[in-house]
Amino acid sequence: MSVTVDLHSHTTASDGRLSPGELIDLFGRRGLKTVAITDHDTTNGLEEAFKAKRAYPDMVLIPGVELSADSKDTEMHLLGYFLDYENDSFQKTLSRFREGRVGRARTMVKKLSDMGVDLKWERVLEFAGDGAVGRPHIARAMIEMGHVGSMSEAFDKYLGRGSPVYADRAKFSPIDAIELIHSVNGLAVLAHPSWVDNLESQLPLLVEAGLAGMEVHYSSYSLELITELESLANRFGLVPCGGSDYHANNNDGEALPGDQGPPEESVDRLRQIAIQRTSIH
Ligand code: AMP
Ligand code: ZN
Ligand code: FE
Ligand code: FE
Repeated sequence: MSVTVDLHSHTTASDGRLSPGELIDLFGRRGLKTVAITDHDTTNGLEEAFKAKRAYPDMVLIPGVELSADSKDTEMHLLGYFLDYENDSFQKTLSRFREGRVGRARTMVKKLSDMGVDLKWERVLEFAGDGAVGRPHIARAMIEMGHVGSMSEAFDKYLGRGSPVYADRAKFSPIDAIELIHSVNGLAVLAHPSWVDNLESQLPLLVEAGLAGMEVHYSSYSLELITELESLANRFGLVPCGGSDYHANNNDGEALPGDQGPPEESVDRLRQIAIQRTSIH
């Protein structure tokens, strides 16, 4: 299946492997019309992306971000769209989150070394480059050293939430994430809801806080799961969103931009909500 909307993607500004310009070119080659770049805790890829987008006059690029939040034992990722991202206080908050990522990755590398999985911290930083440091950068250093054969093995054995190596960052609730997105006139959308334990019981609070949508047409979700999530989204009045969550990892089964995504109608609905909210305030 091929679609024209992709509202979830990563670049070298966080843990993706294509630069923002390369990703825009890929979107163009794959015939995408409406796209969002949603790097983890940063909007630093957007300037280059908007420049590259000039080569594709029909393409619409929505400025986005992906924030990680914790609720009880689950991690939730919130996507923010249509952000006034140049806001100083917003940028200060994101840079604090990125600093937290460095400390946390360092702790995890230290724990790995203590258990005999030897890694060079400098190498992890090299993989991250100018981007927000994440566990995938640690995984890449582990693969290079021959400790694991793949990213998924690195997460399953060492980097996942249940592992003794896992280190937390400062807690930030999903409601705080939604409020941060609203503080720059953005719309909040719940990412990959299949990650969330007891999803149905968590949704009412998020909706009350102003959650606008939920990913439904996500990456490699099956038709069955999409159907189930679509009816849940309808029940809660959430716009069905989604996209590839493309990182250019090039592993087997990685969904490509355009493989799966929401209809253009979902983008129209998001825009309508954004317009309504700004006219009320
Ligand atoms: P972090 O931002 O450091 O918490 O790392 C989360 C990122 O790691 C996600 O955005 C994915 O890119 C990647 N990731 C999470 N779980 C896995 C997994 N099981 N296998 C491969 N990559 C994963
Ligand atoms: Zn990621
Ligand atoms: Fe995510
Ligand atoms: Fe993502």
